[in-house]
Amino acid sequence: MEKKQKIVVIGAGPVGSLAALYAASRGNDVEIYELRGDLRDPSTTPLNFTKSINLALSERGLNAMRHARQPKLIDHVKAATIPMRGRMIHGRKRDGTLYEEAQDYDVHGRAILAIDRGGLNKRLLDILAEMPNVTFFFNHKLTGADFNKNKAWFEVRDGSRSTEKGQRPREIEIDFDLMIGADGAHSAVRYHLMKYTRMDYEQQYIDTLWCEFQIQPKENPEDDTLMSKFRISPNHLHIWPGKQFMFIAIPSDDGTFTCTLFAPASFYNNLESDPSGRHIPDWFDHYFPGVTDLIPPEQLISSFFSNPHLPLISIKCKPYHYSSSVVILGDAAHAMVPFYGQGMNAGLEDVRILFDILDKHTRIDEDSLANDPASTRKMALDEYSRVRVEDAHAINDLALQNYVEMRASVLSPSYRFRKWLEEQLSKYVPSLGWQTKYSRVSFGNERYSEVVRKSEHQGKVLMRALTGLLFGAVGGPLIAVGVVMAMRYRRAVDV
Ligand code: FAD
Repeated sequence: MEKKQKIVVIGAGPVGSLAALYAASRGNDVEIYELRGDLRDPSTTPLNFTKSINLALSERGLNAMRHARQPKLIDHVKAATIPMRGRMIHGRKRDGTLYEEAQDYDVHGRAILAIDRGGLNKRLLDILAEMPNVTFFFNHKLTGADFNKNKAWFEVRDGSRSTEKGQRPREIEIDFDLMIGADGAHSAVRYHLMKYTRMDYEQQYIDTLWCEFQIQPKENPEDDTLMSKFRISPNHLHIWPGKQFMFIAIPSDDGTFTCTLFAPASFYNNLESDPSGRHIPDWFDHYFPGVTDLIPPEQLISSFFSNPHLPLISIKCKPYHYSSSVVILGDAAHAMVPFYGQGMNAGLEDVRILFDILDKHTRIDEDSLANDPASTRKMALDEYSRVRVEDAHAINDLALQNYVEMRASVLSPSYRFRKWLEEQLSKYVPSLGWQTKYSRVSFGNERYSEVVRKSEHQGKVLMRALTGLLFGAVGGPLIAVGVVMAMRYRRAVDV
Protein backbone atom coordinates (compact mmCIF):
# COMPACT_ATOMS: atom_id res chain seq x y z
CA MET A 1 0.00 0.00 0.00
CA GLU A 2 2.56 2.55 -1.13
CA LYS A 3 0.18 5.44 -2.03
CA LYS A 4 0.11 7.90 0.84
CA GLN A 5 -3.10 7.74 2.84
CA LYS A 6 -4.29 8.91 6.24
CA ILE A 7 -4.51 5.90 8.49
CA VAL A 8 -5.79 6.27 12.03
CA VAL A 9 -5.12 3.53 14.54
CA ILE A 10 -7.34 3.28 17.60
CA GLY A 11 -5.52 1.77 20.58
CA ALA A 12 -1.77 1.88 21.25
CA GLY A 13 -1.56 -1.64 22.70
CA PRO A 14 0.85 -4.14 21.13
CA VAL A 15 -1.37 -4.77 18.10
CA GLY A 16 -2.24 -1.11 17.40
CA SER A 17 1.42 -0.11 17.78
CA LEU A 18 2.61 -2.75 15.32
CA ALA A 19 -0.19 -1.84 12.87
CA ALA A 20 0.93 1.80 13.08
CA LEU A 21 4.52 0.73 12.34
CA TYR A 22 3.45 -1.24 9.26
CA ALA A 23 1.29 1.64 8.03
CA ALA A 24 3.98 4.27 8.66
CA SER A 25 6.76 2.28 7.01
CA ARG A 26 4.66 2.30 3.82
CA GLY A 27 4.79 6.11 3.83
CA ASN A 28 1.26 6.81 5.06
CA ASP A 29 0.32 9.59 7.45
CA VAL A 30 -0.43 7.75 10.67
CA GLU A 31 -2.29 9.00 13.72
CA ILE A 32 -2.63 6.85 16.85
CA TYR A 33 -5.44 7.58 19.30
CA GLU A 34 -5.14 6.01 22.74
CA LEU A 35 -7.58 6.18 25.63
CA ARG A 36 -4.88 6.15 28.30
CA GLY A 37 -1.78 8.22 28.82
CA ASP A 38 1.61 7.37 27.31
CA LEU A 39 2.69 3.97 28.62
CA ARG A 40 6.30 5.20 28.69
CA ASP A 41 5.28 7.67 31.39
CA PRO A 42 5.81 5.81 34.71
CA SER A 43 2.53 7.16 36.14
CA THR A 44 0.41 5.41 33.50
CA THR A 45 -1.08 2.09 34.65
CA PRO A 46 -2.03 -0.34 31.90
CA LEU A 47 -5.79 -0.75 31.69
CA ASN A 48 -7.10 -3.61 33.83
CA PHE A 49 -3.72 -4.76 35.08
CA THR A 50 -2.07 -4.07 38.43
CA LYS A 51 1.27 -3.32 36.74
CA SER A 52 1.69 -5.34 33.58
CA ILE A 53 1.50 -9.00 32.71
CA ASN A 54 4.06 -11.48 31.50
CA LEU A 55 3.28 -13.05 28.18
CA ALA A 56 4.59 -15.82 26.01
CA LEU A 57 5.79 -14.39 22.72
CA SER A 58 6.17 -17.02 20.01
CA GLU A 59 6.92 -17.44 16.31
CA ARG A 60 3.80 -15.76 14.92
CA GLY A 61 4.39 -12.59 16.92
CA LEU A 62 8.11 -12.62 16.11
CA ASN A 63 7.42 -13.21 12.43
CA ALA A 64 5.06 -10.24 12.31
CA MET A 65 7.77 -8.05 13.86
CA ARG A 66 10.41 -9.46 11.47
CA HIS A 67 8.30 -8.19 8.54
CA ALA A 68 7.73 -4.70 9.97
CA ARG A 69 10.51 -3.16 7.80
CA GLN A 70 12.21 -2.07 11.05
CA PRO A 71 15.53 -3.94 11.18
CA LYS A 72 16.28 -3.10 14.81
CA LEU A 73 12.81 -3.99 16.16
CA ILE A 74 13.29 -7.72 16.56
CA ASP A 75 16.62 -7.45 18.44
CA HIS A 76 15.24 -4.59 20.55
CA VAL A 77 12.32 -6.80 21.59
CA LYS A 78 14.25 -10.06 21.99
CA ALA A 79 16.76 -8.35 24.30
CA ALA A 80 14.08 -8.24 27.01
CA THR A 81 12.92 -11.86 26.74
CA ILE A 82 13.66 -15.09 28.58
CA PRO A 83 13.38 -18.35 26.61
CA MET A 84 11.04 -20.98 28.08
CA ARG A 85 11.88 -24.43 26.67
CA GLY A 86 8.90 -26.22 28.16
CA ARG A 87 6.48 -26.65 31.00
CA MET A 88 7.64 -27.56 34.48
CA ILE A 89 4.84 -29.48 36.15
CA HIS A 90 4.79 -29.30 39.95
CA GLY A 91 3.02 -31.80 42.20
CA ARG A 92 3.13 -34.04 45.24
CA LYS A 93 3.73 -37.81 45.17
CA ARG A 94 1.61 -40.27 47.15
CA ASP A 95 4.30 -40.39 49.85
CA GLY A 96 3.97 -36.63 50.31
CA THR A 97 7.26 -35.58 48.70
CA LEU A 98 7.24 -32.76 46.16
CA TYR A 99 8.24 -33.36 42.55
CA GLU A 100 8.76 -31.33 39.41
CA GLU A 101 8.70 -32.76 35.91
CA ALA A 102 9.98 -30.93 32.83
CA GLN A 103 7.93 -31.40 29.64
CA ASP A 104 9.77 -29.81 26.71
CA TYR A 105 7.62 -27.95 24.20
CA ASP A 106 9.56 -29.16 21.23
CA VAL A 107 11.96 -32.00 20.33
CA HIS A 108 13.97 -29.63 18.16
CA GLY A 109 14.81 -27.45 21.17
CA ARG A 110 12.72 -24.44 20.17
CA ALA A 111 11.47 -22.17 22.95
CA ILE A 112 8.74 -19.59 23.48
CA LEU A 113 9.83 -16.26 24.98
CA ALA A 114 8.66 -14.72 28.23
CA ILE A 115 8.24 -10.95 27.92
CA ASP A 116 6.65 -8.20 29.94
CA ARG A 117 3.64 -6.96 27.95
CA GLY A 118 4.20 -3.33 28.97
CA GLY A 119 7.92 -3.60 28.10
CA LEU A 120 7.15 -4.93 24.62
CA ASN A 121 4.55 -2.21 24.12
CA LYS A 122 7.03 0.51 25.17
CA ARG A 123 9.65 -0.80 22.74
CA LEU A 124 7.14 -0.56 19.89
CA LEU A 125 6.16 2.97 20.94
CA ASP A 126 9.86 3.98 21.13
CA ILE A 127 10.39 3.01 17.50
CA LEU A 128 7.15 4.68 16.40
CA ALA A 129 8.17 7.91 18.16
CA GLU A 130 11.20 8.13 15.85
CA MET A 131 9.06 8.12 12.70
CA PRO A 132 8.28 11.59 11.27
CA ASN A 133 4.93 10.52 9.75
CA VAL A 134 3.46 9.24 13.06
CA THR A 135 1.51 11.41 15.52
CA PHE A 136 0.34 10.21 18.94
CA PHE A 137 -2.86 11.37 20.62
CA PHE A 138 -2.88 10.02 24.16
CA ASN A 139 -5.87 10.47 26.50
CA HIS A 140 -8.20 10.42 23.50
CA LYS A 141 -11.23 8.15 23.74
CA LEU A 142 -13.06 7.17 20.57
CA THR A 143 -16.75 7.98 21.13
CA GLY A 144 -18.27 7.87 17.66
CA ALA A 145 -17.58 7.09 14.01
CA ASP A 146 -19.27 7.46 10.63
CA PHE A 147 -17.79 4.87 8.31
CA ASN A 148 -19.59 6.20 5.22
CA LYS A 149 -18.28 9.74 5.67
CA ASN A 150 -14.93 8.55 7.17
CA LYS A 151 -15.24 10.74 10.26
CA ALA A 152 -14.64 9.95 13.93
CA TRP A 153 -15.12 11.70 17.25
CA PHE A 154 -13.00 11.59 20.38
CA GLU A 155 -13.38 12.76 23.96
CA VAL A 156 -10.15 14.44 25.02
CA ARG A 157 -9.24 13.73 28.61
CA ASP A 158 -6.86 15.85 30.62
CA GLY A 159 -4.90 12.79 31.72
CA SER A 160 -6.13 12.86 35.30
CA ARG A 161 -9.12 10.65 34.32
CA SER A 162 -11.66 12.71 36.27
CA THR A 163 -13.09 15.89 34.84
CA GLU A 164 -14.02 18.70 37.19
CA LYS A 165 -17.71 18.82 38.19
CA GLY A 166 -19.90 20.49 35.59
CA GLN A 167 -17.09 20.66 33.05
CA ARG A 168 -17.74 18.67 29.87
CA PRO A 169 -14.75 16.95 28.31
CA ARG A 170 -13.58 18.49 25.04
CA GLU A 171 -14.58 16.67 21.86
CA ILE A 172 -12.73 16.64 18.55
CA GLU A 173 -13.66 15.46 15.06
CA ILE A 174 -11.20 13.90 12.63
CA ASP A 175 -11.32 12.35 9.18
CA PHE A 176 -9.39 9.44 7.70
CA ASP A 177 -8.97 7.12 4.74
CA LEU A 178 -8.72 3.95 6.83
CA MET A 179 -9.39 3.33 10.51
CA ILE A 180 -7.67 0.34 12.13
CA GLY A 181 -9.47 -0.63 15.34
CA ALA A 182 -7.02 -2.27 17.77
CA ASP A 183 -8.79 -1.12 20.91
CA GLY A 184 -9.04 -4.41 22.74
CA ALA A 185 -11.76 -6.81 23.83
CA HIS A 186 -14.30 -4.07 24.65
CA SER A 187 -13.62 -2.31 21.37
CA ALA A 188 -15.47 0.93 20.62
CA VAL A 189 -14.55 0.58 16.93
CA ARG A 190 -16.28 -2.82 16.81
CA TYR A 191 -19.34 -1.33 18.52
CA HIS A 192 -19.65 1.37 15.82
CA LEU A 193 -18.73 -1.05 13.01
CA MET A 194 -21.72 -3.20 13.98
CA LYS A 195 -24.04 -0.39 12.91
CA TYR A 196 -22.67 -0.49 9.37
CA THR A 197 -22.31 -4.18 8.61
CA ARG A 198 -24.34 -7.29 9.43
CA MET A 199 -21.86 -8.54 11.98
CA ASP A 200 -22.28 -11.94 13.62
CA TYR A 201 -21.12 -11.60 17.19
CA GLU A 202 -20.65 -14.11 19.99
CA GLN A 203 -19.06 -13.64 23.40
CA GLN A 204 -18.51 -15.99 26.31
CA TYR A 205 -17.23 -15.34 29.81
CA ILE A 206 -15.75 -18.61 31.05
CA ASP A 207 -16.27 -19.51 34.69
CA THR A 208 -12.71 -18.62 35.64
CA LEU A 209 -11.21 -15.53 37.23
CA TRP A 210 -7.51 -14.71 37.29
CA CYS A 211 -5.44 -13.00 39.96
CA GLU A 212 -1.78 -12.06 39.95
CA PHE A 213 0.95 -13.02 42.48
CA GLN A 214 4.74 -12.60 42.53
CA ILE A 215 7.68 -14.84 43.40
CA GLN A 216 10.49 -12.58 44.56
CA PRO A 217 14.16 -13.17 43.56
CA LYS A 218 16.55 -15.02 45.90
CA GLU A 219 17.75 -12.83 48.73
CA ASN A 220 21.32 -14.10 48.51
CA PRO A 221 22.07 -15.22 44.95
CA GLU A 222 25.34 -17.12 44.36
CA ASP A 223 26.60 -14.46 41.95
CA ASP A 224 25.55 -11.26 40.16
CA THR A 225 24.08 -12.90 37.09
CA LEU A 226 20.37 -12.62 36.37
CA MET A 227 20.00 -16.41 36.17
CA SER A 228 21.22 -16.96 39.71
CA LYS A 229 18.48 -14.64 41.05
CA PHE A 230 15.62 -16.99 40.10
CA ARG A 231 14.15 -19.22 42.82
CA ILE A 232 13.01 -21.86 40.26
CA SER A 233 14.11 -22.66 36.70
CA PRO A 234 13.84 -19.47 34.60
CA ASN A 235 13.64 -21.44 31.37
CA HIS A 236 10.27 -23.01 32.02
CA LEU A 237 6.65 -21.99 32.27
CA HIS A 238 5.78 -23.44 35.68
CA ILE A 239 2.40 -25.07 36.13
CA TRP A 240 0.71 -26.36 39.25
CA PRO A 241 -2.23 -28.25 37.67
CA GLY A 242 -5.15 -28.45 40.07
CA LYS A 243 -7.70 -30.17 37.73
CA GLN A 244 -10.43 -27.56 38.32
CA PHE A 245 -7.97 -24.69 38.62
CA MET A 246 -4.29 -23.98 38.12
CA PHE A 247 -1.44 -21.73 39.17
CA ILE A 248 1.28 -20.72 36.71
CA ALA A 249 4.55 -18.77 36.94
CA ILE A 250 6.37 -16.98 34.10
CA PRO A 251 9.88 -15.50 34.54
CA SER A 252 10.61 -11.76 34.30
CA ASP A 253 13.91 -10.18 33.39
CA ASP A 254 14.45 -8.88 36.95
CA GLY A 255 14.64 -12.31 38.64
CA THR A 256 10.97 -12.39 39.71
CA PHE A 257 8.17 -14.62 38.45
CA THR A 258 4.74 -13.26 37.64
CA CYS A 259 2.23 -15.87 38.75
CA THR A 260 -1.42 -16.25 37.91
CA LEU A 261 -4.13 -18.15 39.72
CA PHE A 262 -6.92 -19.35 37.42
CA ALA A 263 -9.96 -20.66 39.33
CA PRO A 264 -13.77 -20.65 39.13
CA ALA A 265 -15.57 -17.70 40.70
CA SER A 266 -16.98 -19.94 43.47
CA PHE A 267 -13.45 -20.69 44.71
CA TYR A 268 -12.69 -16.98 44.95
CA ASN A 269 -15.98 -16.50 46.84
CA ASN A 270 -15.00 -19.24 49.31
CA LEU A 271 -11.55 -17.80 49.85
CA GLU A 272 -12.92 -14.26 50.22
CA SER A 273 -15.49 -15.33 52.81
CA ASP A 274 -12.96 -15.00 55.63
CA PRO A 275 -11.43 -11.50 55.39
CA SER A 276 -8.45 -12.59 57.52
CA GLY A 277 -7.44 -14.95 54.66
CA ARG A 278 -6.10 -17.41 57.27
CA HIS A 279 -6.93 -20.48 55.20
CA ILE A 280 -5.49 -19.16 51.89
CA PRO A 281 -1.95 -20.54 52.49
CA ASP A 282 -3.37 -23.97 53.45
CA TRP A 283 -5.51 -23.96 50.32
CA PHE A 284 -2.46 -23.16 48.19
CA ASP A 285 -0.43 -25.80 50.00
CA HIS A 286 -3.04 -28.43 49.33
CA TYR A 287 -3.67 -27.74 45.65
CA PHE A 288 -0.39 -26.16 44.54
CA PRO A 289 2.29 -27.99 46.53
CA GLY A 290 5.49 -26.01 47.02
CA VAL A 291 4.02 -22.57 46.28
CA THR A 292 4.05 -21.54 49.95
CA ASP A 293 7.84 -22.18 49.97
CA LEU A 294 8.18 -19.63 47.17
CA ILE A 295 5.63 -17.01 48.24
CA PRO A 296 5.44 -16.27 51.97
CA PRO A 297 1.92 -16.83 53.40
CA GLU A 298 1.38 -13.15 54.32
CA GLN A 299 2.26 -12.14 50.73
CA LEU A 300 -0.14 -14.73 49.30
CA ILE A 301 -2.92 -13.29 51.45
CA SER A 302 -2.17 -9.66 50.66
CA SER A 303 -1.83 -10.28 46.89
CA PHE A 304 -5.08 -12.25 46.90
CA PHE A 305 -6.99 -9.39 48.51
CA SER A 306 -5.25 -6.41 46.90
CA ASN A 307 -4.94 -7.60 43.29
CA PRO A 308 -8.08 -7.60 41.15
CA HIS A 309 -9.92 -10.82 40.33
CA LEU A 310 -10.43 -10.45 36.61
CA PRO A 311 -12.72 -12.27 34.16
CA LEU A 312 -11.73 -14.03 30.94
CA ILE A 313 -13.69 -13.39 27.78
CA SER A 314 -13.74 -15.17 24.44
CA ILE A 315 -15.12 -13.24 21.46
CA LYS A 316 -15.86 -14.37 17.93
CA CYS A 317 -17.28 -12.10 15.25
CA LYS A 318 -17.39 -11.66 11.48
CA PRO A 319 -16.74 -9.79 9.25
CA TYR A 320 -13.85 -7.67 10.52
CA HIS A 321 -14.35 -4.71 8.18
CA TYR A 322 -16.78 -2.38 6.47
CA SER A 323 -16.29 -1.18 2.90
CA SER A 324 -12.90 0.49 2.48
CA SER A 325 -12.95 2.53 5.66
CA VAL A 326 -12.49 0.34 8.76
CA VAL A 327 -11.04 -2.96 9.95
CA ILE A 328 -10.62 -4.43 13.44
CA LEU A 329 -7.58 -6.43 14.59
CA GLY A 330 -6.27 -8.18 17.71
CA ASP A 331 -8.51 -8.57 20.76
CA ALA A 332 -11.03 -6.18 19.18
CA ALA A 333 -11.70 -8.88 16.57
CA HIS A 334 -11.02 -12.09 18.49
CA ALA A 335 -10.31 -11.80 22.22
CA MET A 336 -9.49 -15.27 23.48
CA VAL A 337 -8.76 -17.00 26.76
CA PRO A 338 -5.00 -17.01 27.45
CA PHE A 339 -4.38 -20.77 27.63
CA TYR A 340 -2.58 -21.19 24.30
CA GLY A 341 -0.47 -18.07 24.82
CA GLN A 342 -1.69 -16.84 21.44
CA GLY A 343 -3.93 -13.78 22.02
CA MET A 344 -1.26 -11.21 21.33
CA ASN A 345 0.64 -13.44 18.89
CA ALA A 346 -2.50 -13.87 16.80
CA GLY A 347 -3.14 -10.12 16.94
CA LEU A 348 0.38 -9.35 15.72
CA GLU A 349 -0.08 -11.94 12.97
CA ASP A 350 -3.32 -10.15 11.95
CA VAL A 351 -1.19 -7.08 11.20
CA ARG A 352 1.23 -9.00 8.94
CA ILE A 353 -1.59 -10.70 7.06
CA LEU A 354 -3.63 -7.51 6.63
CA PHE A 355 -0.69 -5.59 5.17
CA ASP A 356 0.37 -8.53 2.96
CA ILE A 357 -3.12 -8.48 1.46
CA LEU A 358 -3.22 -4.67 1.15
CA ASP A 359 0.21 -4.73 -0.56
CA LYS A 360 -0.93 -7.45 -2.97
CA HIS A 361 -4.02 -5.48 -4.02
CA THR A 362 -2.00 -2.29 -4.40
CA ARG A 363 0.40 -4.09 -6.76
CA ILE A 364 -2.52 -5.41 -8.82
CA ASP A 365 -3.97 -1.87 -8.89
CA GLU A 366 -0.64 -0.42 -10.06
CA ASP A 367 -0.17 -3.11 -12.71
CA SER A 368 -3.60 -2.38 -14.13
CA LEU A 369 -2.89 1.38 -14.00
CA ALA A 370 -6.11 1.83 -12.03
CA ASN A 371 -5.94 4.62 -9.51
CA ASP A 372 -8.64 4.16 -6.97
CA PRO A 373 -7.20 3.57 -3.48
CA ALA A 374 -10.65 3.21 -1.89
CA SER A 375 -11.77 0.38 -4.17
CA THR A 376 -8.37 -1.30 -3.84
CA ARG A 377 -8.70 -1.11 -0.05
CA LYS A 378 -12.23 -2.47 -0.19
CA MET A 379 -11.12 -5.52 -2.17
CA ALA A 380 -8.24 -6.05 0.24
CA LEU A 381 -10.44 -5.74 3.35
CA ASP A 382 -13.01 -8.13 1.84
CA GLU A 383 -10.25 -10.67 1.33
CA TYR A 384 -8.80 -10.08 4.80
CA SER A 385 -12.10 -10.89 6.54
CA ARG A 386 -12.64 -13.88 4.28
CA VAL A 387 -9.23 -15.35 5.08
CA ARG A 388 -8.80 -14.41 8.69
CA VAL A 389 -12.17 -15.22 10.26
CA GLU A 390 -11.70 -18.98 9.90
CA ASP A 391 -8.25 -18.85 11.48
CA ALA A 392 -9.20 -16.57 14.35
CA HIS A 393 -12.18 -18.80 15.19
CA ALA A 394 -9.87 -21.83 15.11
CA ILE A 395 -7.40 -20.37 17.62
CA ASN A 396 -10.24 -19.14 19.88
CA ASP A 397 -11.47 -22.75 20.08
CA LEU A 398 -7.97 -24.17 20.60
CA ALA A 399 -7.38 -21.70 23.44
CA LEU A 400 -10.55 -22.84 25.21
CA GLN A 401 -9.60 -26.51 24.77
CA ASN A 402 -6.06 -25.93 26.05
CA TYR A 403 -7.32 -24.93 29.50
CA VAL A 404 -8.26 -28.56 30.09
CA GLU A 405 -4.86 -29.65 28.78
CA MET A 406 -2.93 -27.32 31.09
CA ARG A 407 -4.84 -27.91 34.30
CA ALA A 408 -5.54 -31.67 33.90
CA SER A 409 -4.37 -33.50 30.75
CA VAL A 410 -0.68 -32.79 31.37
CA LEU A 411 -1.01 -35.38 34.17
CA SER A 412 -2.74 -38.05 32.08
CA PRO A 413 -0.77 -41.04 30.69
CA SER A 414 -2.63 -41.04 27.34
CA TYR A 415 -1.82 -37.35 26.77
CA ARG A 416 1.85 -37.97 27.56
CA PHE A 417 1.95 -41.04 25.33
CA ARG A 418 0.54 -39.20 22.31
CA LYS A 419 2.93 -36.30 22.90
CA TRP A 420 5.89 -38.67 23.17
CA LEU A 421 4.90 -40.66 20.08
CA GLU A 422 4.36 -37.56 17.95
CA GLU A 423 7.67 -36.10 19.08
CA GLN A 424 9.54 -39.31 18.17
CA LEU A 425 7.94 -39.28 14.71
CA SER A 426 8.83 -35.61 14.28
CA LYS A 427 12.43 -36.23 15.37
CA TYR A 428 13.28 -39.56 13.74
CA VAL A 429 11.08 -39.51 10.63
CA PRO A 430 11.14 -35.81 9.66
CA SER A 431 10.13 -36.71 6.09
CA LEU A 432 6.62 -37.49 7.40
CA GLY A 433 6.20 -33.81 8.37
CA TRP A 434 4.75 -34.94 11.70
CA GLN A 435 4.49 -32.30 14.46
CA THR A 436 2.56 -31.85 17.67
CA LYS A 437 -0.31 -29.38 17.58
CA TYR A 438 1.53 -27.21 20.09
CA SER A 439 4.61 -27.02 17.83
CA ARG A 440 2.51 -26.11 14.81
CA VAL A 441 0.74 -23.34 16.74
CA SER A 442 3.73 -21.93 18.62
CA PHE A 443 6.72 -22.53 16.36
CA GLY A 444 5.21 -22.22 12.90
CA ASN A 445 3.23 -19.80 10.78
CA GLU A 446 0.79 -22.09 9.00
CA ARG A 447 -2.85 -21.06 9.21
CA TYR A 448 -4.51 -21.94 12.51
CA SER A 449 -7.34 -23.66 10.60
CA GLU A 450 -4.72 -25.76 8.79
CA VAL A 451 -3.12 -26.68 12.14
CA VAL A 452 -6.48 -27.97 13.35
CA ARG A 453 -7.03 -30.00 10.17
CA LYS A 454 -3.53 -31.52 10.25
CA SER A 455 -3.70 -32.32 13.95
CA GLU A 456 -7.09 -34.06 13.53
CA HIS A 457 -5.67 -36.04 10.61
CA GLN A 458 -2.62 -37.05 12.66
CA GLY A 459 -4.91 -38.12 15.51
CA LYS A 460 -6.92 -40.37 13.15
CA VAL A 461 -3.76 -41.92 11.63
CA LEU A 462 -2.35 -42.62 15.08
CA MET A 463 -5.63 -44.13 16.25
CA ARG A 464 -5.76 -46.40 13.20
CA ALA A 465 -2.11 -47.43 13.65
CA LEU A 466 -2.59 -48.13 17.37
CA THR A 467 -5.79 -50.08 16.74
CA GLY A 468 -3.93 -52.09 14.10
CA LEU A 469 -1.09 -52.81 16.51
CA LEU A 470 -3.49 -53.77 19.26
CA PHE A 471 -5.38 -55.96 16.86
CA GLY A 472 -2.11 -57.55 15.75
CA ALA A 473 -1.06 -58.17 19.36
CA VAL A 474 -4.38 -59.35 20.79
CA GLY A 475 -6.74 -59.87 17.85
CA GLY A 476 -4.23 -61.86 15.78
CA PRO A 477 -3.80 -64.74 18.27
CA LEU A 478 -7.58 -64.74 18.95
CA ILE A 479 -8.33 -65.11 15.25
CA ALA A 480 -5.71 -67.88 14.98
CA VAL A 481 -7.33 -69.78 17.87
CA GLY A 482 -10.76 -69.25 16.23
CA VAL A 483 -9.53 -70.56 12.87
CA VAL A 484 -7.92 -73.67 14.47
CA MET A 485 -11.10 -74.39 16.45
CA ALA A 486 -13.28 -73.95 13.34
CA MET A 487 -11.06 -76.32 11.36
CA ARG A 488 -11.20 -78.91 14.14
CA TYR A 489 -14.99 -78.57 14.27
CA ARG A 490 -15.26 -78.99 10.49
CA ARG A 491 -13.02 -82.04 10.63
CA ALA A 492 -15.15 -83.50 13.44
CA VAL A 493 -18.35 -82.87 11.42
CA ASP A 494 -16.75 -84.27 8.25
CA VAL A 495 -15.80 -87.42 10.11
P1 FAD B 1 -5.04 -4.40 24.18
O1 FAD B 1 -3.74 -4.89 24.67
O2 FAD B 1 -6.24 -4.57 25.03
O3 FAD B 1 -4.88 -2.86 23.79
C1 FAD B 1 -6.01 -2.08 23.42
C2 FAD B 1 -5.67 -0.61 23.60
O4 FAD B 1 -6.78 0.16 23.16
C3 FAD B 1 -5.45 -0.25 25.07
O5 FAD B 1 -4.24 0.45 25.19
C4 FAD B 1 -6.67 0.59 25.44
O6 FAD B 1 -6.38 1.60 26.38
C5 FAD B 1 -7.03 1.22 24.08
N1 FAD B 1 -8.46 1.60 23.97
C6 FAD B 1 -9.54 0.91 24.46
N2 FAD B 1 -10.68 1.59 24.17
C7 FAD B 1 -10.32 2.72 23.51
C8 FAD B 1 -11.06 3.81 22.96
N3 FAD B 1 -12.41 3.89 23.04
N4 FAD B 1 -10.37 4.80 22.35
C9 FAD B 1 -9.01 4.75 22.26
N5 FAD B 1 -8.27 3.75 22.76
C10 FAD B 1 -8.91 2.73 23.37
N6 FAD B 1 -1.28 -13.33 24.67
C11 FAD B 1 -0.20 -13.99 24.15
O7 FAD B 1 0.07 -13.91 22.96
N7 FAD B 1 0.60 -14.75 24.97
C12 FAD B 1 0.34 -14.90 26.30
O8 FAD B 1 1.08 -15.60 27.00
C13 FAD B 1 -0.79 -14.23 26.86
N8 FAD B 1 -1.07 -14.32 28.18
C14 FAD B 1 -2.13 -13.65 28.70
C15 FAD B 1 -2.41 -13.77 30.06
C16 FAD B 1 -3.50 -13.13 30.62
C17 FAD B 1 -3.79 -13.30 32.07
C18 FAD B 1 -4.32 -12.32 29.79
C19 FAD B 1 -5.50 -11.60 30.36
C20 FAD B 1 -4.05 -12.17 28.44
C21 FAD B 1 -2.96 -12.84 27.87
N9 FAD B 1 -2.66 -12.75 26.50
C22 FAD B 1 -1.59 -13.43 25.98
C23 FAD B 1 -3.52 -11.95 25.60
C24 FAD B 1 -2.94 -10.57 25.32
O9 FAD B 1 -2.77 -9.86 26.51
C25 FAD B 1 -3.87 -9.82 24.40
O10 FAD B 1 -4.26 -10.64 23.32
C26 FAD B 1 -3.19 -8.58 23.83
O11 FAD B 1 -2.85 -7.70 24.86
C27 FAD B 1 -4.14 -7.90 22.84
O12 FAD B 1 -3.53 -6.76 22.34
P2 FAD B 1 -4.39 -5.62 21.65
O13 FAD B 1 -3.39 -4.56 21.25
O14 FAD B 1 -5.29 -6.20 20.62
O15 FAD B 1 -5.38 -5.09 22.78
